[in-house]
Amino acid sequence: MILYAAENGKFIEFTDAVKNNPAKLHNLYINITNKCNCACTFCLRSLKKMPKEHTLWLQQEPTLTDIKMAFSQIDKTKVGEIVFCGFGEPTMRLEFLIDALKYVREIWPDKKIRLNTNGLSSLQHKKDTAILFKDLLDTISISLNAPTAEKYLAITQNQLGIASYKAMLDFAKECKNHIPNVVLTIVDSIGADEIKACQKVCADNNLELRIRTYEAN
Ligand code: SF4
Repeated sequence: MILYAAENGKFIEFTDAVKNNPAKLHNLYINITNKCNCACTFCLRSLKKMPKEHTLWLQQEPTLTDIKMAFSQIDKTKVGEIVFCGFGEPTMRLEFLIDALKYVREIWPDKKIRLNTNGLSSLQHKKDTAILFKDLLDTISISLNAPTAEKYLAITQNQLGIASYKAMLDFAKECKNHIPNVVLTIVDSIGADEIKACQKVCADNNLELRIRTYEAN
């Protein structure tokens, strides 16, 4: 699925979500890659049980033509927030992501757009990537995961090493120069002490923290 919605804990084609509940505004999720530079211990990619018709695994990565075709099927009046998300890390396809964001911004300038990311794009691509999102995003949601570099690396099992935690925080701070809403996230299952420590990290770095409910299956 390239364009999907979340309904009762399941991922379904966006057009089906609208058919099931035409009165509601549905968030429109955009799935552009299976690739990720992390292997998080809690990742839904390995933990969530998904029947074939609800899977987010892409047989092949969409092209911009595929995205345009998919958008042509969507009733804009049924769309709430647009979220680049999926089961991979969208910034692994950085150039494509920027092109897709530009396309969506151009056709629907009045819709809010969010990117859910692990925040490692600048380290991954060895350049400042935050500026690339200027005027293209309303919100960026970055996974903080943990209060220290060691714990972060243990949880994310990422390919970029111990420098990844600081790089993710630096990216988040840089995003504040270009994106109206910058939010760091953790899941509520990490425990009260870890949550408190993450709150301190965000306060020390002048970053907003959101604690979200963990969903394993
Ligand atoms: S960054 Fe996201 S997609 Fe990648 S392994 Fe972690 S939870 Fe999964």
